[in-house]
Amino acid sequence: MTTKTQRKVEAHNIAARQASRLDRRRGPRATARSELPIAPAEIIPEQPTPARPALEAVPLRAYVAREHVRRDIGSWIQVLDLEVPGAPASAPPVLQDQDGTAMPFLVQCLTHGARKYFTAYSSAVRAAKASHHWCESCKKDVIAFHKLHSRATGRSAHK
Ligand SMILES: [Zn+2]
Repeated sequence: MTTKTQRKVEAHNIAARQASRLDRRRGPRATARSELPIAPAEIIPEQPTPARPALEAVPLRAYVAREHVRRDIGSWIQVLDLEVPGAPASAPPVLQDQDGTAMPFLVQCLTHGARKYFTAYSSAVRAAKASHHWCESCKKDVIAFHKLHSRATGRSAHK
């Protein structure tokens, strides 16, 4: 059995006819029935289909992860992702809850300055839409809005 190096040397020494045979041997159609010797080392095994790259859990992250404007009272609420790569140096520190779990999401009312930390992004987004639960000024505005609204419609749902 000849080694790969020996075959290379032979191929180098023998003329064009052999060279063309080498080309054919490299081609995809070289089979066991062809006159060309097929060296086991040169048979490229069938490649397994590469696994599909897994998508990241959070495909897009931004420091201002979400912004919400309340249509009833006009407050602007932001959800900040404090642990996002490239967060500004001015980002507030990540606080921990009573159990020591990090709360990397900060919801803040831009209109009134109130803030609340969350462990989960989904909870932070829910809180952003219900700012009157954690921002006292939003709460007052919501109460005022509903009083005004019920007066305008002539209903007295809230007394
Ligand atoms: Zn507010």
